[in-house]
Amino acid sequence: WSSNIKPDRGVNVEVILRCRPLNDDEKKLKLPVVISCNEGKGEVSVVQNTAYKQIDKTFSFDKVFGPTSQQKELFDEAISPLVNEVLEGYNCTVFAYGQTGTGKTYTMEGGRVGVVESGEFPSDVGIIPRAVQQILDVLEARNEEYSMKVTFLELYNEDIMDLLAPDESLNGPDDKSRKPIALMEDGRGGVFIRGLEQEVVCTADGIYKILEKGSAKRHTADSLLNMQSSRSHTIFSITIHVKESSSNGEELMKCGKLNLVDLAGSENVVRSGAKEGRVREAGEINKSLLTLGRVINALVEHSGHVPYRDSKLTRLLRDSLGGNTKTCIIATVSPSIHSVEETLNTLDYAHRAK
Ligand code: ADP
Ligand code: MG
Repeated sequence: WSSNIKPDRGVNVEVILRCRPLNDDEKKLKLPVVISCNEGKGEVSVVQNTAYKQIDKTFSFDKVFGPTSQQKELFDEAISPLVNEVLEGYNCTVFAYGQTGTGKTYTMEGGRVGVVESGEFPSDVGIIPRAVQQILDVLEARNEEYSMKVTFLELYNEDIMDLLAPDESLNGPDDKSRKPIALMEDGRGGVFIRGLEQEVVCTADGIYKILEKGSAKRHTADSLLNMQSSRSHTIFSITIHVKESSSNGEELMKCGKLNLVDLAGSENVVRSGAKEGRVREAGEINKSLLTLGRVINALVEHSGHVPYRDSKLTRLLRDSLGGNTKTCIIATVSPSIHSVEETLNTLDYAHRAK
């Protein structure tokens, strides 16, 4: 295993901030913009000056991408270096964290794109297809034997659903056959998921079919805040194996993994009008988001106890969080005044992970 030859580089967490542009509704309502991004300084300011409320706060991040930032720019500057780490045999994780409607899925998957012409990606394409393309490009050029497999799962109410499970098991979102699958302990402190569907990827185009198939199964429920409000986390994992020959003719298998995590909306329970059945959901969502924050804090501060076991999300990602891995958190926010409270919560959460 390559882990024998990899130098230990410790924990590495990068926190970046992305602010989306105003959407058409916000433009129509002429809602004031309360966020300004200084990309050069890596700073974001929230300024609100109204009769009943005054806010003037500035937060700094490793990188800041303002409303006009492009998908390619964010990928090239923030994600592409992580993909190179994965190609060298490390495990890396990218999280999208933020209020519903701020661009987590847009950043991870991209706008819905049709057939991709060979060559350049349409500008809306997000991180997942770009990462797959980079891996294919590098490995094809190296002329080594390799395989790339992906899995796509959803964590909903602490239950794991396989988003790539064969279609017979799906008859709509309330289908009882959407059975959760179990997380098993491997006896070495790690976990694995029995029976999780793995798809082999050979072309970047193939990834769209996989994304579409998975997204169609993603559990969403209406809420007062947003009809598309997502109350689940999804984890898209890319695992690569590369066969290498060392100078003495020995064969080595290098294995790297990239997790791309689209977290549930970070908005709080009360504001989204959560009631009864939703309360458990909100509680579980909070649990994983809070635990994730605590785990990252513990890793960054090198404190002894890292509470991986406190949520399924962190148990699932344990082999890719902490110890010789790299993590990137992309916090997403809206520029509009009516999201200012949630924006401050997101900036706080993300800033604490630094
Ligand atoms: P989330 O997954 O956080 O709920 P989405 O990714 O679904 O949010 O984004 C909400 C809407 O805003 C979508 O229509 C998306 O295309 C658009 N959007 C989000 N971020 C951007 C951006 N940076 N540039 C252009 N459109 C964006
Ligand atoms: Mg989403």
